[in-house]
Amino acid sequence: MAEAAVKKHEAEQELTDGFHLLIDALKLNGVKTIYGVPGIPITDFGRMAQAEGIRVISFRHEQNAGYAASIAGFLTKQPGICLTVSAPGFLNGLTALAHATTNCFPMILMSGSSEREIVDLQQGDYEEMDQLAVAKTMCKAAYRVLHAQDIGIGLARAIRAAVSGRPGGVYLDLPAKLFSQVMNASAGEKSLVKVIDAAPAQIPAPEAVKRALNVLKGAKKPLIILGKGAAYAQADDAIKAFVEKTGAPFLPMSMAKGLLSDLHPQCAGAARSTVLKDSDVVVMLGARLNWLLSHGKGKAWGDAPKKFIQIDIEPKEMDSNVEIAAPVVGDIGSCVAAFLNAMGDKWTPAPSDWVNAVKTKKDDNIAKMAPRLMNNNSPMDYHGALGVLRQVIKERPDAILVNEGANTLDLARGVIDMYKPRKRIDVGTWGIMGIGMGYSIAAAIETGKPVLAVEGDSAFGFSGMEIETICRYNLPVCVVIFNNDGIYRGTDVNTAGSDPATTVFVKGARYDKMIEAFGGTGINATSPDELRRAVNEAMDSGKPTLINAVIDPAAGSESGRIGNLNPQSVVKKK
Ligand code: ADP
Ligand code: MG
Repeated sequence: MAEAAVKKHEAEQELTDGFHLLIDALKLNGVKTIYGVPGIPITDFGRMAQAEGIRVISFRHEQNAGYAASIAGFLTKQPGICLTVSAPGFLNGLTALAHATTNCFPMILMSGSSEREIVDLQQGDYEEMDQLAVAKTMCKAAYRVLHAQDIGIGLARAIRAAVSGRPGGVYLDLPAKLFSQVMNASAGEKSLVKVIDAAPAQIPAPEAVKRALNVLKGAKKPLIILGKGAAYAQADDAIKAFVEKTGAPFLPMSMAKGLLSDLHPQCAGAARSTVLKDSDVVVMLGARLNWLLSHGKGKAWGDAPKKFIQIDIEPKEMDSNVEIAAPVVGDIGSCVAAFLNAMGDKWTPAPSDWVNAVKTKKDDNIAKMAPRLMNNNSPMDYHGALGVLRQVIKERPDAILVNEGANTLDLARGVIDMYKPRKRIDVGTWGIMGIGMGYSIAAAIETGKPVLAVEGDSAFGFSGMEIETICRYNLPVCVVIFNNDGIYRGTDVNTAGSDPATTVFVKGARYDKMIEAFGGTGINATSPDELRRAVNEAMDSGKPTLINAVIDPAAGSESGRIGNLNPQSVVKKK
């Protein structure tokens, strides 16, 4: 054979397999990081992906890896990837996949699975489970890849499903046999798909924009509510320009804080109940009228009639809770650009009597809170401790704030001002506990910025073991545990026996000692002054640190600010 023909023949003989094809497909689509827990059948895959330059972050529990992937999706607009083993590992990751879907974060859960033939006949395979069927009800889309030549298409479908339209979670089922399937290398390469324009712009209809602006024009008391969809959209400058052009007060939902600075003159965060009650036209920008906004009706919204303008990528979101007078369907970047364009240079800003009334209320509330934030009580109350952390973030507006708990969440949300977009990440739509360490790890890795995690002692418990992960990867994470000896309060007593009450933990626990076991810095802080010193040092050093902030066990209230959702019996048994 001639030399060229020999070369061609050799190339045709070159082989690849499922392992390599999946890694190549991920790299082709720009995946830089995988969050997961190794084990059968994906151990070697993780090892090989690492060797091929993908960052593979190994966690101690799949749920935390999943939460990390979900928030990576929120922060980057690329699907966060979580990799798990079969059945139990898959199920652990599934909570996070459902969470991503509920929160509209793009994420792909890739799980190894057992042999189809055995699973489908229910013959009792190792970790047997029909994972695809289970996942389907919990996410936006679910796919299984059975043949190595379909890996490229399978991943492309997963990426598109995760990021296009309303983002969400996608499940990709990878049976063990797939990984070792061998095929011709050049055919394999050709089978890969680079996803072009994964989240195409969705341009709003000009009539919808016009209708919305007509409603807004008629407003005497307009209000803009910014949701985490607006933060996700990464259209920060256009959103700011739009809000400023309207002159209307704006209310940021929790994870939209900082999209415009909380110190912006139009920010109505400190006058929340007033603006909800008194506004007459409400512009919903990437926020849903779900339980977090009392479904857009009832006492919180007052008696005055209201018209809603809603801007959302998901048409089905319209009229979900109340009538939407002006639905605008499209991606927020395109919608806001269309608004700005149609508003022109002569837009009349919101009436000044309304703007001034909101400002007076807000200034009043801020002034009332100020002295409480400066107390130096020991043991600390929430306000004394949060006053310190508020200053820490003020001095470091680029840091990421992770926040979960009950009182620790509700009070921190109000007290700690945010200055830049996508710097506050928290419990989200479900109000779940457990996101803390997963979010902290992904935030540090995806942004390279220091992370401050403000955690209730109970909330921390759901992901606490990941402090080992934080130490292992030497991440710039400072965890502050608001330790009040229990859930809501540490003061409950069991009157019927010697067991502790259901809501209390070991009294005087020293969480700071936990991180020392892994080489991190642990500090016990009993006063705001001690807390300030410790947090400043941790944030400046970038060393993994855990601070046990001793909070008065009697300081919290039941269920924080959502006690109304926690039924209490009024029947006394004789
Ligand atoms: P919050 O809890 O902050 O109110 P939600 O998660 O309830 O926010 O609402 C976010 C909304 O944003 C969802 O209805 C989602 O469809 C929408 N959304 C997400 N990304 C975009 C985008 N790029 N453009 C338009 N809407 C978006
Ligand atoms: Mg507590």
